[in-house]
Amino acid sequence: MLPDHTDVLIVGAGPTGLALAIALRQAGIDHLIIDKLEGGQNTSRAAVIHAHTLEAIEPLGVSEALMRRGLPITRFAIRDRDRTLLQLGFDALPSAYRCLLMIPQDVTEAVLGDRLTALGGSVHRGHAALSVTQRPDAATAQIVSSRGSRAVTARYVVGADGMHSIVRESAGIAFKGSTYEESFVLADVKMDWPLGTGEVTQFFSPAGLVVVAPLPGGSFRVVATLDQAPERPAKADIQQLIDTRGPAGPRTEVREVTWSSRFRLHHRVVDTYRNGRLLLMGDAAHVHSPAGGQGMNTGLVDSVVLGQSLVRILADGQPDAVLDAYGALRRQAAVEVLRLAGRLTGIATMRSGPQRMLRNGLLHVFGALPPARQKLIMNLSGLSRKALAKAA
Ligand SMILES: Cc1cc2nc3c(=O)[nH]c(=O)nc-3n(C[C@H](O)[C@H](O)[C@H](O)COP(=O)(O)OP(=O)(O)OC[C@H]3O[C@@H](n4cnc5c(N)ncnc54)[C@H](O)[C@@H]3O)c2cc1C
Repeated sequence: MLPDHTDVLIVGAGPTGLALAIALRQAGIDHLIIDKLEGGQNTSRAAVIHAHTLEAIEPLGVSEALMRRGLPITRFAIRDRDRTLLQLGFDALPSAYRCLLMIPQDVTEAVLGDRLTALGGSVHRGHAALSVTQRPDAATAQIVSSRGSRAVTARYVVGADGMHSIVRESAGIAFKGSTYEESFVLADVKMDWPLGTGEVTQFFSPAGLVVVAPLPGGSFRVVATLDQAPERPAKADIQQLIDTRGPAGPRTEVREVTWSSRFRLHHRVVDTYRNGRLLLMGDAAHVHSPAGGQGMNTGLVDSVVLGQSLVRILADGQPDAVLDAYGALRRQAAVEVLRLAGRLTGIATMRSGPQRMLRNGLLHVFGALPPARQKLIMNLSGLSRKALAKAA
């Protein structure tokens, strides 16, 4: 049974909601976390955690467990079929986490969920927020479950409820941007990959893009753009992508698809992360192409900064203007990430022959310039956005 009142109501128990619940639990802040799904999403989706994220979530006590369960990789390469255009090394990052940590999202969520449980917390599953209203001193959410509906009043309501956020809608916050025609195919597969498990490779080819990234347990994540992606890409679809876009050498046989999905491309960011007592984070505030694997990472850092901000207000008695600073900082981070993901997508999806030739040539030059390479490494790892990850 849900209580009538709490200090912080978190709507959504994806990675960002779980991370915020951990932060509040650790600080002894009264809160409630609900999710409309009975059993969580439990799918692979976001497959990489970057160095900056691992640093930011360290205070939550989960980074070590994530490192244990993930596969750290230090090399990223862009190739045009068999020709290497650019190689980036993550082994010299100025961080304790000198890698791209490959780990499926359901494992990340399990690690966060286990940590919340270990702290004595839990998610109220099977509870959907229908709407949220607010007055100057509180906000009230209408929540429905199989047992009926109930109103819960909170000092703050946090929308961690993903791209179609009901909290954002209730707050009347605009989510500007666009939806692209193209879609991404994602699949986790078993195959005998000729390049081994030490590198994330992005292939450009006349037929389009394909990214192959090793995952823990001997699987590989395959990501590709397609004009008309099937809803559940099958083994033959992935085989064709590898054959026509991957290495041109001996054929790699895709043996099994363990998970697959289609990802529609949206680039959107909210006008503001806050309207009074309603706050946003994660996909509720920003969505973009999976190029660069930044989506979940940016959301996790949002949740850490929001957690610190709420603790300052609710435990230390600081003014709630701290939340405006949260919104300003994290919106700036999201705008930078949208720009990065947009550029990477644009470069990766060039189709015309002359454009592709020019791009490949420029990438070669870019790769020979250490400062340019370092800038891209810092951007991808998120470490260039460290200053946007501290509560006021
Ligand atoms: C197919 C797919 C592939 C992806 N691949 C990548 C990738 O390769 N790299 C990457 O970085 N990102 C990827 N993403 C994006 C990544 O999954 C998200 O950025 C991440 O999940 C955002 O976390 P979140 O906590 O903000 O929201 P979500 O994970 O969307 O969680 C929102 C939660 O809120 C709950 N909820 C929604 N509405 C309500 C309501 N009204 N009441 C109660 N609960 C509610 C939902 O059930 C859900 O559990 C992918 C997404 C998809 C769909």
